[in-house]
Amino acid sequence: MQLNTILNRVGPFKSFVYGKAKWVEEAKRPTLAVEIHSRKNGRAICSGCGRPRPGYDRLPERRWEFVPLWGIAVYFVYAMRRVNCPDCGVTVERVPWAVGKCHLTTSYRWFLARWAKRLSWQEVASIFHTNWRNVFASVKHAVFWGISHRDLGGIEAIGVDEIQWQRGHHYLTLVYRIEDGMKRLLWVAQERTEESLRGFFQYLSEAERRSIRFVCSDMWQPYLKVIAEQVKQAVHVLDRFHIMKKMNEAIDEVRRSEAARLKRDGYEEVLKHSRWCLLKRKENLTEKQAVKLSELLQYNLRSVRSHLMREDFQRFWEYASPAWAARFLDQWCVRTMRSKIEPMKKIATTLREHRDLILNWFRAKGTVSAGPVEGLNNKAKLTMRKAYGFRTYEAIEIALYHTLGDLPEPNFTHEFC
Ligand SMILES: [Zn+2]
Repeated sequence: MQLNTILNRVGPFKSFVYGKAKWVEEAKRPTLAVEIHSRKNGRAICSGCGRPRPGYDRLPERRWEFVPLWGIAVYFVYAMRRVNCPDCGVTVERVPWAVGKCHLTTSYRWFLARWAKRLSWQEVASIFHTNWRNVFASVKHAVFWGISHRDLGGIEAIGVDEIQWQRGHHYLTLVYRIEDGMKRLLWVAQERTEESLRGFFQYLSEAERRSIRFVCSDMWQPYLKVIAEQVKQAVHVLDRFHIMKKMNEAIDEVRRSEAARLKRDGYEEVLKHSRWCLLKRKENLTEKQAVKLSELLQYNLRSVRSHLMREDFQRFWEYASPAWAARFLDQWCVRTMRSKIEPMKKIATTLREHRDLILNWFRAKGTVSAGPVEGLNNKAKLTMRKAYGFRTYEAIEIALYHTLGDLPEPNFTHEFC
């Protein structure tokens, strides 16, 4: 069997034929160059307007890298024609194996992009003897294609969240679709401002925006504002995960300042090593931590009282009726406001301010939860950690869409990987 037979099977062309294949003697590793010829009588296609046009002249030969075969690099070699187009002037012809000035064939770009979903970009580059730039460009091409071909109709539930990136206070705003069987990243934007999120809703069509029935988010004010303004019809849920996270942060603050105070006053550092006892649920404690906790409970410490308040609050999530849950929430807030523990009082105030949105958790029960948001966020963090060489926002954005966007791909004549 000839190489051409294989090439015609994996990458057939209508108006071009594969010619001779030769070893490239001067190459550092085994490399094949495959000639391509235009068919006789086949007219060149203008790259400007896509119509067949009369020929003008021929450019010097160019090479495009194709998918490697058995560890052998494969290049296509072809001298492109220029056409004389009445609409576009003299332009270079369009060829089916590559786009524009790109020196990688389209098949090879998809090949690299697909591997880049499984391995880091650096690993893909080194395995296939190419460079990071080529892998990045291929992934970017796949993401652009996928985004322009994805269907955003019928979205019912979305989750909005922020994650930190780079050092310091840099954030990304992420919007996920969080329905059963359809969890994917829909949107990435820089910062966590109103504009970061508003951009998403403006990107949707009117009908796409109106199909959204549930929105899940944390208590970040700019998000709350934009959600209220852009998706009025949706039930907005402040979810359990984010609320308990806030509460844990408050407990941690109480513990830290108390530990500092005890140390200053010359008391035994009872709170040292106690962080995990206080943050964990009772049933998750190790035996040693449980002993530490019971020791701590002997003292009437603020950290301990905060811990008990949090444990008490867990009951809130078990209510079935929004009315009873509301009653519990109000009473918990009254008790906490009397506690004189500032960080906890701040939590109670926040809960009061967002009472309605928090109670929406019970109205949306069973339909939506932030579980998927948390899972997707963990994957996003992993993508960013693996992201060797991702210094720019653009690279991060492309990587996130690529791994979490569940983006469509074209139908291939042949699946190379
Ligand atoms: Zn044209």
